[in-house]
Amino acid sequence: LNAPLFADVAGDAQVSFEFFPPKTEKMEATLWESVQTLSPLAPRFVSVTYGAGGTTRERTHATVARIARETNIPAAAHLTCVEATREEIDAVANDYWEAGVRHIVALRGDPPTAGTKFVSPAGGYENAAALVAGLKRLHPFEISVAAYPECHPDSPDAGHDLDNLKRKLDAGASRAITQFFFEPETFFRFRDAVAAAGISAEIVPGIMPVMSFASVVRMSAMCGTDVPAWMGRLFEGLDDRPAARQLVAATVAAELCRKLYAGGERAFHFYTLNRAELSYAICHLLGIRPDPALEETAA
Ligand code: FAD
Repeated sequence: LNAPLFADVAGDAQVSFEFFPPKTEKMEATLWESVQTLSPLAPRFVSVTYGAGGTTRERTHATVARIARETNIPAAAHLTCVEATREEIDAVANDYWEAGVRHIVALRGDPPTAGTKFVSPAGGYENAAALVAGLKRLHPFEISVAAYPECHPDSPDAGHDLDNLKRKLDAGASRAITQFFFEPETFFRFRDAVAAAGISAEIVPGIMPVMSFASVVRMSAMCGTDVPAWMGRLFEGLDDRPAARQLVAATVAAELCRKLYAGGERAFHFYTLNRAELSYAICHLLGIRPDPALEETAA
């Protein structure tokens, strides 16, 4: 942990990037610029989120299909159980299979009204574990699921949450990507608990570079992530200083990745929020350089 600035990186880190489907032409251009910047880093996969209640069904599909068509990077589609019957979800999954998409990030999803409890729709999948089993019955998809180092808010305790993670992996998922967190010890404690529960699947830390501190505080409150007091102090007074804020955000995320790497982690999943630079800079620090052949494809 005391190694000087990334001196110990050996070029063996693997990354993946998460995007959300754009709403406007301008957002589409920003997303595509980010995909072109990040894809030469040869991520293992890039994934595209699915909006509450299937509101982004077409846009998620279009974004995943475009990435699959125009890059050499495997694209994964997020899929949730919210407000849809099994037949409707299976039809979406079949469309992905036919479009050549082989990787699904299978999630329960949250109710469209924030703060309400998830209720499984009539004829729908009741949770992510059931969705994983349903997808596996349809096609031999590669499946990733969500994991919660600080426990999911719906879970009575960490033990229940781990049992739930195990059910999702036993149903056929091959890896879990974690909710974002800000202290490396949070991840290491979770990693130990996962191993003690007899889970051997890959658990990939989800890294959230802070674009806006206020929105991170809002999202963290909803998903049960602790925002340490030291982070509040670091971002204090930077609301109107975007360049300084970006440097601070890069320092915070880089330090988290450095400690995770020193603690043995080699895979990292970035919540890019469709912006490339912060994730690119952290990948660079982790020793990842663009592949010239992929740069040509992305140009
Ligand atoms: P599940 O694993 O089904 O369950 C969540 C919790 O409910 C469990 O931890 C468990 O405590 C409890 N639970 C479930 N079933 C049972 C049971 N049978 N008995 C007891 N307890 C149970 N949301 C989106 O809408 N779109 C996205 O694209 C999206 N992408 C995400 C990507 C990642 C990497 C992560 C970490 C989250 C993402 N989310 C997304 C958010 C996610 O949908 C929410 O966190 C949601 O509240 C839970 O989804 P899940 O798949 O973890 O649910």
